[in-house]
Amino acid sequence: MRTEEFIKLEDKLGAHNYKPLDVVLTKGAGVWVWDVEGKKYLDCLSAYSAVNQGHCHPKIMEAMVEQASKLTLTSRAFRNDQLAFFYQELCELTNSHKVLPMNSGAEAVESAIKTVRKWGYEVKGVPRGQAEIIVCSENFHGRTLSIVSFSTDPKSRDGFGPFTPGFIVVPFGDIDALEQAMTPNTVGFMVEPIQGEAGVIIPPAGYLKAAKALCEKNNVILVLDEIQTGLGRTGKLLAEEHEGIEADLTLVGKALSGGFYPVSAVLSNTEVMDVLQPGEHGSTFGGNPLGCAVSRAALKVLVEEKMVENSEKMGALFLEKLQQIDNSLIKEVRGRGLMIAMELSEEAGGARQYCLKLKEKGLLCKETHDHIIRFAPPLIITKEQVEWAVDNITGVMAG
Ligand SMILES: *Cc1c(COP(=O)(O)O)cnc(C)c1O
Repeated sequence: MRTEEFIKLEDKLGAHNYKPLDVVLTKGAGVWVWDVEGKKYLDCLSAYSAVNQGHCHPKIMEAMVEQASKLTLTSRAFRNDQLAFFYQELCELTNSHKVLPMNSGAEAVESAIKTVRKWGYEVKGVPRGQAEIIVCSENFHGRTLSIVSFSTDPKSRDGFGPFTPGFIVVPFGDIDALEQAMTPNTVGFMVEPIQGEAGVIIPPAGYLKAAKALCEKNNVILVLDEIQTGLGRTGKLLAEEHEGIEADLTLVGKALSGGFYPVSAVLSNTEVMDVLQPGEHGSTFGGNPLGCAVSRAALKVLVEEKMVENSEKMGALFLEKLQQIDNSLIKEVRGRGLMIAMELSEEAGGARQYCLKLKEKGLLCKETHDHIIRFAPPLIITKEQVEWAVDNITGVMAG
């Protein structure tokens, strides 16, 4: 089938909850993907940072095939011989005490909300039903009903009520607002270290450190949603390292499986995680041997192949070169590691047309909001590939 036929069939039979670029991909390897017409593209989205390790990494693929031929799913009614090693390796790498395995990112967020609320009632002593969790404006934590209940994006929320109560929204990056929002019933503060979907919004230096101190002072659990920023994207294994802090709960997903399988996790200190008792939370697929084996390989190659270091280096180069582009249509280029955004000015007339032109040049990226283009290639990108990307971006912006 040709591109047009795939699109026609998809649009006829599928829910229209996405507006993808009209490119139908059939193959991927490293930073590259190919469409059904045989055209090759540099992937500058990485499935929203789920393929940090590059497409179809051979070692992750090998682990997946091997495990798939042995045992894929037991449910947690029984134990499996991958889960303990998955816990051990993930804890060692991230300096965590305990892990709760789930599948999608949204499930990790939901799990954190439940865990933090329960901690609030059982350990902090908040009256039942009164727990408050503080979140930030312009947040993105997923698409489930409880999560969109505290979204400030009308598109994510409108028409989906009634909503889950118990959330307080404060402006992102505003430490005074956070302090004022805390009450004796506050159990958690959940925040993205850098807001990805909002357009790579980096908070003022010291914000997370101050938030951590405030949480400690008020006996509040700091939950960092590192589903997008984590696992090397920002040039550190976890973005919290930029501020030298450790969250009480850290959420990871996306690149945790290198894009092969949905695997997410809540990483926690012992005190908080220990409030969960048998039967109080779970998931049929969470912690399954196939997901664990895939994830173990995904973490291994991230470390062994020094992808985090490469993200820092190539990110700095990409950012610097984009910032050097002299074009009045570009309002600002910002980023950390390989999480980069180019914000266009009013007169550029929207980001999508540039994404379409870049697609023609063989570079895939996606607008976020109307006027921001995000560049987030796999962390294995080379200097030559960064330079090639920048040349094309420069050309497309020049018209
Ligand atoms: C993608 C993302 C999620 C949701 O993950 P899903 O796997 O799509 O449910 C949550 N938080 C952040 C910061 C994300 O980028």
